[in-house]
Amino acid sequence: MAVTETAPGEAMTGHTSVEHPSATRAAHEGILRRQSARESAARTYARALPIVPVRARGLTIEGADGRRYLDCLSGAGTLALGHNHPVVLEAIRKVLDSGAPLHVLDLATPVKDAFTTELFRTLPPGLADHARVQFCGPAGTDAVEAAFTLVRAATGRNGLLAFAGAYHGMTSGALEASGDALDVRVARLPYPQEYRCPFRIGGRLGAELSARWTESVLDDPKSGVPLPAGMILEPVQGEGGVLPAPDEWMRRIRQITADRSIPLIVDEVQTGVGRTGAFWAVDHSGITPDVMVLSKAIGGSLPLAVVVYRDDLDVWEPGAHAGTFRGNQLAMAAGTATMAYVRENALTERAATLGARMLDQLRGLGRDFTVIGDVRGRGLMIGVEMVEPEGRGPARTGESGESGGAGGSDGSGELGSPVGLGGAGVVEAAVMRGTAPSPRPASPELAAAVQRECLRRGLIVELGGRHASVVRLLPPLTITDEQATAVLDRLADAVAAVARGGGPGGGPGGGSGGASGGGSCGGR
Ligand code: PLP
Repeated sequence: MAVTETAPGEAMTGHTSVEHPSATRAAHEGILRRQSARESAARTYARALPIVPVRARGLTIEGADGRRYLDCLSGAGTLALGHNHPVVLEAIRKVLDSGAPLHVLDLATPVKDAFTTELFRTLPPGLADHARVQFCGPAGTDAVEAAFTLVRAATGRNGLLAFAGAYHGMTSGALEASGDALDVRVARLPYPQEYRCPFRIGGRLGAELSARWTESVLDDPKSGVPLPAGMILEPVQGEGGVLPAPDEWMRRIRQITADRSIPLIVDEVQTGVGRTGAFWAVDHSGITPDVMVLSKAIGGSLPLAVVVYRDDLDVWEPGAHAGTFRGNQLAMAAGTATMAYVRENALTERAATLGARMLDQLRGLGRDFTVIGDVRGRGLMIGVEMVEPEGRGPARTGESGESGGAGGSDGSGELGSPVGLGGAGVVEAAVMRGTAPSPRPASPELAAAVQRECLRRGLIVELGGRHASVVRLLPPLTITDEQATAVLDRLADAVAAVARGGGPGGGPGGGSGGASGGGSCGGR
């Protein structure tokens, strides 16, 4: 039986739905108990979200206990069309009914041919005519590894450039390029961000300094960073806390890497297939990467990963990057259907307009509650950073006008040209006087509390960010206006509940104490 979508305006509180036989509840609790007894201590989502999904459709998940939830985790951003979209199910059934093989390594099939045709149709114009695709093992991290192998083979060089706060996966090469690792073969650069700008400036100038730092690392023969095999970046850092890179910064980085013949690898694992309000997030800036790493939504909810790259890089040897599970026919069919549906139904535009509206409303919420430090995102990739309430931790000292507060960022701001740095005197003075923005300390406890309060209200949200203090929304691109309102209502309610239990000044009506105790560390 399919779960119906939440009806518009339906007061779906999750915990107040129909009475359920105690046997159902006991089965639900038994499954959770056995999971915690049998599964690894490394399990993640399952800790913060103790639910047992049994049916799902669109935005809605129904648990074994009969409760319903609005799912804004979407399989960590995988479900562009939500759960069990009819076109995805139909595509999967068609393959099953056709008698086609389900697993074929990297052999050619009509299903794969259709996938590649649809994929190439969506690529940035500069890449589409000269693209090659490598099918990888099924996870995003496999595609990242393959991209590194590719650029190392193409350049004969070894090292990589990556950005602080990045997340590219859990295999060793991918981990080396992520924010947590220390391996010297990957040099890390500052990623531009408004709210917690590493230069305490934010905005256009902060991004410009990040670009100049990159140039300096590359051009200083004594920087300790030899010319690398490639640079990898996320156009919006997802796990890093929903940080959209400014378009102008993307163009600067493209120029810097092109001028030095450094292949630019753009990781679109999370941002791809319309998520940010463009089919690929690089489309916002108009740059053409040398390599794109794709996974999550391109498999239409099933595991699939590919690397797409310019054909002149295609100099690696046969078998240079292999893997048994490169031929998942069901995932290719589901992915083809998903990409075509997003394209034909202009879901990228929908993500852009609805996302902007949701950001606006959340910024309004941010003005009401001081426990919200920042609201940011692009399209339907949205983050709300929770901070210590006023009265706890260092206070903000002021604004430079370039950054900070719940004003947030959406990546569309332009960088200052070097000439435009004429305004830097004012900013410099602010920085030196200590009146530049100084965000409140991040609060993972409040973020975890918001996640719990959301769950109580039938809303599933993700946590992320450097300090696990960012409440993340990744709703399907098919979310209706009514559903978006329901999501925001529940989130606002959850924030209000947490602020009421939070420290002084936590929100309207004040509040006290810490709504802490989370223990969640986000999805990871
Ligand atoms: N790259 C980005 C930007 C991601 O967000 C992720 C996962 O969240 C990965 C790579 C790794 O993908 P996977 O978990 O499928 O290995």
